[in-house]
Amino acid sequence: MTPVARTDRLRVLPAHATYEGGGFLVHRAFPTPDLPMVDPFLLLDQMGPVDYAPGEAKGAPDHPHRGFETVTYLLDGAMVHEDSNGNRGELRPGDVQWMTAGSGVVHSEMPHPDTLATGGRFHGFQLWVNLPKKDKMMAPRYQDIRSDTIPEVETGGGKVRVIAGRYGDMEAVIDMRVAIQYLHAIVAPGKAILFRVPKGHHGFALVALGGGHIGETAAEAHHVVLLPDDIDLALKAGPDGMSVLLISGAPLREPVARYGPFVMNTTEEIRQAVVDFQAGRMGEIQAEHRKA
Ligand code: FE
Repeated sequence: MTPVARTDRLRVLPAHATYEGGGFLVHRAFPTPDLPMVDPFLLLDQMGPVDYAPGEAKGAPDHPHRGFETVTYLLDGAMVHEDSNGNRGELRPGDVQWMTAGSGVVHSEMPHPDTLATGGRFHGFQLWVNLPKKDKMMAPRYQDIRSDTIPEVETGGGKVRVIAGRYGDMEAVIDMRVAIQYLHAIVAPGKAILFRVPKGHHGFALVALGGGHIGETAAEAHHVVLLPDDIDLALKAGPDGMSVLLISGAPLREPVARYGPFVMNTTEEIRQAVVDFQAGRMGEIQAEHRKA
């Protein structure tokens, strides 16, 4: 009997369409009933792609987070971010914002006034990365990574953007608490790109646009494919090409207690997070920043 290679049949799960924040449609790769998390990752949403009419774009007004990191990656449109520490930033196509909520932050993630006024295409992703128990109450911090500082590798089959970790000898600029590889592969129609999930990582792919094969497994837009580690995998695009996020990380293997925007290790810590937020200890977004 011929042994079945680990790449022969990969598990494929459809993302679930749902509404977030102020009512914008997302495709949620996880958590879903079939895939509660991919340790150390807690959530991945694909926002759009959607074509907004003028005045129609929606966002996520003031809300708190504690105990993990949010990684926002924008492909189309523009967003404005504000938080309770007085930070304000804009995301443009290709930019990444890596926010470590740590002990707690209140922030808003809204369409840029230009996007709101003119409408147009909006497309992006938000990934939640869990923090290890020892870092859950660390001071909040931000890393804004402009598109032109994200390393890109051109291959015969397309392009790989290195948001975290490395691809070949290209290394990302981001500083992480947990070892992560986050690649965005854009594979040309009919072409292929090779990649590998680092040994010991939990890895998955999210097909954002187009479709094709990952190893021998067919996948199309809004499909999540769970990946084996430490083995070369080919991304082979179909006639429309394929845009894929390739994400993996070293699992924390710690207890997870989650309640909405708070992710801790115990229910007591969750209860404390709710109390701290309600008492205003995660701060609020100051009015003067809103006028900026
Ligand atoms: Fe948020």
